[in-house]
Amino acid sequence: MLCNVTDIRMTDPIQELGDPHAPILQGLWESVRAGQRHIQLSPYLAASCAFLTHLALCAPFFFLDALGRVCQRVRSWRIAAGSGPPPSLQRWFQCFCRVLFKYTTAVLPAAALLQLLRSPNFPELAPTCWQLFVEVLACFLLFDTLFFIWHYSMHRVPWLYRTVHQMHHQHHVPFALAAQDASSAELLSLLLLALGSAWMLGCHPLSEVLFHFLNSWMAVEDHCGYNLPWALHKLLPCMGGAPYHHAHHKKQNTNFAPYFTHWDFLFGTYCASVQHSE
Ligand SMILES: [Zn+2]
Ligand SMILES: [Zn+2]
Repeated sequence: MLCNVTDIRMTDPIQELGDPHAPILQGLWESVRAGQRHIQLSPYLAASCAFLTHLALCAPFFFLDALGRVCQRVRSWRIAAGSGPPPSLQRWFQCFCRVLFKYTTAVLPAAALLQLLRSPNFPELAPTCWQLFVEVLACFLLFDTLFFIWHYSMHRVPWLYRTVHQMHHQHHVPFALAAQDASSAELLSLLLLALGSAWMLGCHPLSEVLFHFLNSWMAVEDHCGYNLPWALHKLLPCMGGAPYHHAHHKKQNTNFAPYFTHWDFLFGTYCASVQHSE
């Protein structure tokens, strides 16, 4: 099911565009393939896009935090409603500087090196919508499992916690930008877990890009500090959402998985929510 579709269909993709049976995403994929030389020749492109995507995904929460200073309704959506005002502009700026520094000194060079070592894969055909859905879902389930093991180890081995993970836990009440506010070692570990999940499953590049984009979004939402009425975890009870990860930042021996709750249920580390008393 997850095999490369070029193994199955070897027809000319240009002809496929006029074919009513061609994948719906073929037009989009053709435009990506047209720019593949730029992608191959720009080892910093992927990490730069990841950084800019993270900032863009954080932007709505930046404005929500600003609005929360004057709007009681927005403040009522904050998980830590009783723990003071939303994060200040200064806190956002300081966090931005730290994340920019880590990306420049660690993530960008590491991602460039990985890109040079990796042989690019640009199959002729786009994935079908079903293939895209299955591959992205499989990536999330695998990433969730690998992250759970990694995160559990961080909290169980004191040396690993101090040297790799403690920096991320400086945020007892997290906010959107803090999703990437971690040590260089942690950012590189998470990069390898995300890339490794897609590589192990042999995903189509379009599925891989969509997975990385949604992964960035869900990491931001996990840390946003708001239990929004339209949040994904309210539709899908198998997901923990921001309250679930917020509880991890408050009570560190719980909720080790990033998105789904099944591993924490199985290992007895699930915690639904926490009370704020400060
Ligand atoms: Zn976190
Ligand atoms: Zn942790």
